Amino acid sequence: MSTVLPSAHPTFVSQLPADPDASNRCRTVEHAAYSWVTPCATKATQIICCNHNLAAQLGFNEQATQSQEFADLVSGNLHDPSIKPYAMNYGGHQFGQWAGQLGDGRAINLGQYQLLDSQQQVTLQLKGAGKTPYSRRGDGMAVLRSSIREYLCSEAMYHLGIPTTRALTLTLTGEQVIRDKLYDGHAAYEPCAIVARVSPSFLRFGSLQLPGSRGDLDTLKQTLDYCIKHDYASLIPESGIIDKAVYLAWFESLCERTAQLIVEWMRVGFVHGVLNTDNMSLIGETIDYGPYGWIDNFDLDWTPNTSDAGEKRYRFGQQAYIGQWNLFQLANTIYPLINEAEPLQAIFNNYNHLYNEKWLKMMREKLGIAQHTDLNESTLKESDKQLCTDLETVLSTINTDMTLFYRCLADYPTSACPQNSQQLQAHFAICFYNQQEVTGDYLQQLSEWLIRYQKRLKLTVQDDQQRKIQMDAINPCYILRNFQVQEAIELAEQGDYSRVLTLAELLKTPYQQQDKYQQFEMKRPDWATNKFGCSALSCSS
Ligand code: AMP
Ligand code: MG
Repeated sequence: MSTVLPSAHPTFVSQLPADPDASNRCRTVEHAAYSWVTPCATKATQIICCNHNLAAQLGFNEQATQSQEFADLVSGNLHDPSIKPYAMNYGGHQFGQWAGQLGDGRAINLGQYQLLDSQQQVTLQLKGAGKTPYSRRGDGMAVLRSSIREYLCSEAMYHLGIPTTRALTLTLTGEQVIRDKLYDGHAAYEPCAIVARVSPSFLRFGSLQLPGSRGDLDTLKQTLDYCIKHDYASLIPESGIIDKAVYLAWFESLCERTAQLIVEWMRVGFVHGVLNTDNMSLIGETIDYGPYGWIDNFDLDWTPNTSDAGEKRYRFGQQAYIGQWNLFQLANTIYPLINEAEPLQAIFNNYNHLYNEKWLKMMREKLGIAQHTDLNESTLKESDKQLCTDLETVLSTINTDMTLFYRCLADYPTSACPQNSQQLQAHFAICFYNQQEVTGDYLQQLSEWLIRYQKRLKLTVQDDQQRKIQMDAINPCYILRNFQVQEAIELAEQGDYSRVLTLAELLKTPYQQQDKYQQFEMKRPDWATNKFGCSALSCSS
């Protein structure tokens, strides 16, 4: 038993069916939610980043995080009776096709820990800790670049206030693996790393879909009941009986969470990149950071994932629809537990409405027009929707940096004259990628929109100063720009982790402009426009 670390609890494994085969052979696993596994021993562990705030919430104090036991824990080398490592079994629709069993091919769960400041129990999971029965043709490892991307992005997301799995540590393992990162036949060795991730639940849509697809209603029911008991306990009535009504309430809640999550991504310009159903969380968190990207120039058609360059299924502007598509698959999966199409259909049908309502609320906040006087809300709503979609057209007309634009808009006075094109150009100059695109016609279009915006602002109850405070609290100053994480990766691959640490620090306060971080408050430089890692990424990780 560890002397410095708190013990893990075997909540998941004690409540769900295990795969009786304890070998590590790749195989089909039926009637089981997980398989027992042993993380791969690492030889030269080095913790590069430790998230001390999260560690403290988990009960790992300063002394504990500096111990050898902690390094062993987060690299999969700790042998402690409370830790019973397992890999989860799940399936998924990948790019619209049912792919069958997938499972944790390189993620190993150590067990559940109690958060000190809440009733919440969370799972500690190591991504890149070695082969499992679900590794298929993979090696069970994760390379340093993709691990840096996951560590930084999940924490960036958390500090933006968006539901996400979190990162506790980023650790080099001392191993190397071969990857063809551009998928162009130039495979090379890359350093491996492990991200220790933390979430109340790593269950995915695919965790239910897999038993559902096999007609294994027992495992389907047990897994969903576990999810509800563990993460939706408030839906369970006093009787403790989980019946049809509870399943429906659960699905409704998940639709709500999923819609909210995607609205939040749209707010900050996040493109997940691989919204397969195995990458959709059953608790509505952002999960599995792969070839994601952040919007620099506002473009609803952009996707960072080179594997999706043709169809662009997972492009920025299509995420809401994909959320719906994925929920539809899930509704089909849980139907046998409900056996009544109508109420399920009604909840599903409401998703669009729910999403649009949430989107409008978010956009009003982004524009600082949320608090208005008590005018006729329904008329206002229609014109606000139009104002918001017209802004998207303006932003798409020429290459305009989304993040910088909203910060500039917050500074644009209600008293300014948008028709003064010189002033207008000067005010927004920093947002434009190509000054030659800023033509008279474009400025006319922008000024017409701003005139409508100023008119709308007059209906709000706040002055310019209050509006700026409100807008800056929702429109981030710093996002994890693709080129910035790429620069940090290139330095790290040369052994310099300072930029990773700086970004981790900066992204803790994304809404607060800080002079010392001025260099990060910039749009994508020209050199990054078509550079791999900055504008396009493969799934190789
Ligand atoms: P992802 O695209 O990262 O969501 O992964 C899809 C599936 O492939 C999941 O089942 C992963 O566990 C699995 N996978 C991805 N990379 C590896 C790897 N290097 N070794 C084993 N399995 C992997
Ligand atoms: Mg995944």
